[in-house]
Amino acid sequence: MEGGNNMMEQMMKMLQSGKVDLDTAIKNAMKNVDAVMMHYLENCLNCGGCAPACPFFAAGPEYSPVNKAEEVRKIYRKEMTIAGKILGRLVGAEKPKPEDMDRLMELAYACTNCGHCYYTCMVGIHSGKVVGLLKSILTSAGYVPTLLNMFEAVELHGMYKQIPGIMKIWNDALEEAQKKYGPIEFDKSFKGSTDKKPKVLFLAWISDAMMMRNGFIATIGILNKLKEAGLIDWTTWKVPEAFRAPISVVIGRSANAKKVLERVVKYIEAISPDYVLMMDGGYPYPVFRFEMYGVIKKTVGGKPKWKIVHLVEFLDDLMKEGKIGFEQADDPITWHDPCQLGRHSRVFEPPRDLLKAASSSYRDLPHNREMNFCCGGGGGIGCILREVRITMGQIVGMEIRIPPKEEEFERRVERNHLIAVRRKMEDVKKSGAKIVATACPACVETIARGVRHYGKEMGIEDVKVIHISEYLVDKLKVYTH
Ligand code: SF4
Ligand code: SF4
Repeated sequence: MEGGNNMMEQMMKMLQSGKVDLDTAIKNAMKNVDAVMMHYLENCLNCGGCAPACPFFAAGPEYSPVNKAEEVRKIYRKEMTIAGKILGRLVGAEKPKPEDMDRLMELAYACTNCGHCYYTCMVGIHSGKVVGLLKSILTSAGYVPTLLNMFEAVELHGMYKQIPGIMKIWNDALEEAQKKYGPIEFDKSFKGSTDKKPKVLFLAWISDAMMMRNGFIATIGILNKLKEAGLIDWTTWKVPEAFRAPISVVIGRSANAKKVLERVVKYIEAISPDYVLMMDGGYPYPVFRFEMYGVIKKTVGGKPKWKIVHLVEFLDDLMKEGKIGFEQADDPITWHDPCQLGRHSRVFEPPRDLLKAASSSYRDLPHNREMNFCCGGGGGIGCILREVRITMGQIVGMEIRIPPKEEEFERRVERNHLIAVRRKMEDVKKSGAKIVATACPACVETIARGVRHYGKEMGIEDVKVIHISEYLVDKLKVYTH
């Protein structure tokens, strides 16, 4: 226990070392206001049309997108506009004071960056991105939830490799997958070995094994079935280069996100596959595919030769080429669009094509695709709950304590999170589905939490929440012509 506490202190020191005062944090953040962000900050009509889209609005009007974004607009006006500098509060320009910080933390962590408000705003304002700017100010001024601070340190410095509890979860899942579905060729063709370069590199995260264990094992099962039939060869890393890269984007620390991304990209380059495949449809997918693609290009010195795909896209393409199919069952199953894979990356149809092929009783949720209800677990929110703190403490072998003031924050985050997921559960009930398939660990955990919390009251306690691979693996048919 003492060793664990030392490690925690060491982690916190590492992250606090980059802390700056609030004024500097604001000035640094304002340097990142580009033309798009300026549009978000300048052109809001204050019509409130975005409010019903937000999963947190049900927890109180203060959580409406426009209200959360207004906190950043106040700072922006004060720092960046002449009227704001001269007239201050008269024109809604104000910098936060120390007594505002708790409230700002609470508002910042009542946003999952789901993007639903963007799709409902008639002038195209993405309040989630504006809240992201608020998070980056808070983070660089040292206001970060303890658990997210820890997760970031663990990933950034590769500390998970030294934590036996974390590596055990990863190694046990790999062992079970191999017992069930045959051997894995790890690190194939790494650093110029004589192996043939694999077609697919499965970019699996520790979080896949930890939060979607069955889906992780099933994904390996799918890849091995494709390999046995001669359709692909594939590899993955024996020891991952990241926990869930890059965790730093969740708290708005882009310099650290870049460091982790570069490390992962160097590994990918050393393998040089045709496809880099993820089973995670949360933030890593759009970050690698779009948002930090510039960092990738810089790291490899041009456009990479490999393509980033999500598992559902890869399988859907194989199905359309007539190379795979599925034995069709008739389970009432639905698809929950992870906001990052769906709204942010517009991967809407591939998972539906696959599930329709695998079940004659597939149905959409009432709110789906662009208008899908966010579950309320993204943006790091699902990671800063008390139950996660206790579980992580058991995994790393130490009690994870938070300051008494943060306990109140934790309680409020938990309250808002549970209110946010309720709307999703109502949709699940209306759909009549008994299985909710999805692809993001935060969604899997949050919707499962929703079933535990509201299941009895809503009569949906028998609903199962799974990663899509779990449903597909046993039904997969590979055609060898
Ligand atoms: S962000 Fe868009 S929808 Fe929301 S209040 Fe402003 S203009 Fe209206
Ligand atoms: S991005 Fe989502 S969670 Fe954030 S303010 Fe908009 S609707 Fe709410």
